[in-house]
Amino acid sequence: MLIQTKAIVIKENNVGETDRLVTMLTEKAGVIRAFARGARNVKSKALSATRLFCYSEMSIWASSDKYVIREAQSIEVFFGLRGDVAKIALASYFSQLLLELAPSEEESADYLRLMLNCLHFLEKDTKPAAQIKSIFELRLLSMAGYMPAIEACVGCGAFESARMYFDVQRGEVMCEKCHVGGVPLSISVVSAMRYIIYSDFKKVFSFELTDDALKTLADISERYVLAQTGRGYSALEFYKTVK
Ligand SMILES: [Zn+2]
Repeated sequence: MLIQTKAIVIKENNVGETDRLVTMLTEKAGVIRAFARGARNVKSKALSATRLFCYSEMSIWASSDKYVIREAQSIEVFFGLRGDVAKIALASYFSQLLLELAPSEEESADYLRLMLNCLHFLEKDTKPAAQIKSIFELRLLSMAGYMPAIEACVGCGAFESARMYFDVQRGEVMCEKCHVGGVPLSISVVSAMRYIIYSDFKKVFSFELTDDALKTLADISERYVLAQTGRGYSALEFYKTVK
């Protein structure tokens, strides 16, 4: 069966002399691993189209035991990411999260759109990296079934108090009166989390926070990812050493 789909390469491995095994997030079939035969051959048209973080139109042959890329035509290569170690590290962390949380063999247009938009903003430097990272983390977790309960205090239903407390294990927010433990957050950080999770995707990048609030947002988003997925990410560790 031939699958015609848009896809972004999120991992690449060389196989043998000239082949490449690429893991990609596809619009029509979620995360799949496919062989690109002869992709390392300098004459190959598939060379650039199957490189890491390249967004391409692909024709993929699916047989019972493997996928093979028949044709690949690049649409966007995110050239601005290359040569910037911190940006590559952050994009690699996004890829590791997709490998962990995006579906396989299922339509995945929303996941693809999130990745493409985040890479676009990262490449252009039009939003702080910490903001892009938080948007990717919270939005991805929400899509993948880990949407936190942050509309109101889970104890009494209050929408706000001067400080609210977020429990990263339970994914719940509580007010000053009801909380037992939890990470204290200002209402502006809670509002930003609500905005990221509930806003129309087209507007999700258009909010602003003070530097301090953005730092807290980045911290709580990351802690939520680590708590919910129950593992660490090598690219995240590397990102912290180079950012
Ligand atoms: Zn309460």
